[in-house]
Amino acid sequence: MTDPYRWLTDSLTTLHRAHWYRAPQPLDSPSGPEIVLDGRRLVNFASNDYLGLSQDPRLKAAAQQAVETWGTGSSGSPLLSGYGPLQAELEEKLARWKGAEAALVFSSGYLANLGTILALAGPRDLILADEYNHSSLKRGAQLSGAKVYAYPHLDMTALADLLEKHHSQARRCLLLSDGVFSMDGDICPLPEFLDLACHYQAMALIDDAHATGVLGPAGAGSRDYFQDRGVKLPEFMQMGTLSKALGSLGGYVAGRREWVEFLRNRCATWVYSTALAPANLAAALAAVEIIQTEPEHLQALWRNVRFAREKLSGLPLTRLPSQSPILGIGLPNAQAALAMSQTLRDLGFFAPAIRPPTVPTSRIRFSLMARHHPSQIQGLADALLSLPPPCTV
Ligand SMILES: *Cc1c(COP(=O)(O)O)cnc(C)c1O
Repeated sequence: MTDPYRWLTDSLTTLHRAHWYRAPQPLDSPSGPEIVLDGRRLVNFASNDYLGLSQDPRLKAAAQQAVETWGTGSSGSPLLSGYGPLQAELEEKLARWKGAEAALVFSSGYLANLGTILALAGPRDLILADEYNHSSLKRGAQLSGAKVYAYPHLDMTALADLLEKHHSQARRCLLLSDGVFSMDGDICPLPEFLDLACHYQAMALIDDAHATGVLGPAGAGSRDYFQDRGVKLPEFMQMGTLSKALGSLGGYVAGRREWVEFLRNRCATWVYSTALAPANLAAALAAVEIIQTEPEHLQALWRNVRFAREKLSGLPLTRLPSQSPILGIGLPNAQAALAMSQTLRDLGFFAPAIRPPTVPTSRIRFSLMARHHPSQIQGLADALLSLPPPCTV
């Protein structure tokens, strides 16, 4: 008798050999600009909580109040009994913030992408997607059964060529891209991307997980960022998460009212999954309110981003192109990335090595937060400068 699960063990062995094995590291403290890990205090450059809102007393109070009033669970899927006034209010608020007619709140960003793509595209359709898109966009595209082509990262000429070549054989086309790329920190050239969508009458879905609460003068994301630069953009599906800069949990899709009505009926991950808990909804509501009324958080974040860019650009390292609070340093392989991450950790800085299969090339990834003190960023730059060469691509 052979063990039918034996291949799992073999597979783990392969992961270990390739230095691709990963395991979660439990924090011994709340997640802020500093964390405690294995009993040691480290400056944290690995958080998606860009504005520090997950620790804001007003979000905590809103979540506690929601638990008192509504309880700990929503108790049902949204079309049966799980939809309450907090979700309706949050959907309204997100839609207004994003400049959209309506929005739909999902229990995670991952589920928002999966459900939306599966509702929009099927076997007779064409999906064109940036090769560095987030896993949720990639999996959604694969699962949809549509014909899927990935174009080279940010290459709008390649996207145009693929559209020209394949669009006439497809019933419908859907274009997918991260707004801010989660592992590189660069951004989708939205004006060109949406021009192509219009020209070929394709639908477009932009994943603003790392742009929501980060990009644009109102922190409303990619659309806000480009419109601020005087670009008038057509409408498109704006997806995002409540789990990063909004300091809560959940995801959303915003767009025209009819798009949202359609999704409410056709998104399996929305229809058949329990609605988000009151505490998460209330925390996200408080977060949007704070971002809209207190621009100082966004200003502090971008001050830190500029300072970090300035400090890192002087170093003999391969900095990956970035227009966001995500900064990366390219490394030749997974082992080098792991070694650098460990050395930084010994020096008191937490920044993870990001390796295949998450990304095609290994790197160290730094995420800036509004609440980092400039001395913490200076400390990181000093630590990087002290590292022995050669550790770059
Ligand atoms: C984090 C992330 C998601 C998933 O959002 P969750 O709310 O964490 O499920 C989707 N897309 C991108 C680009 C992300 O970075």
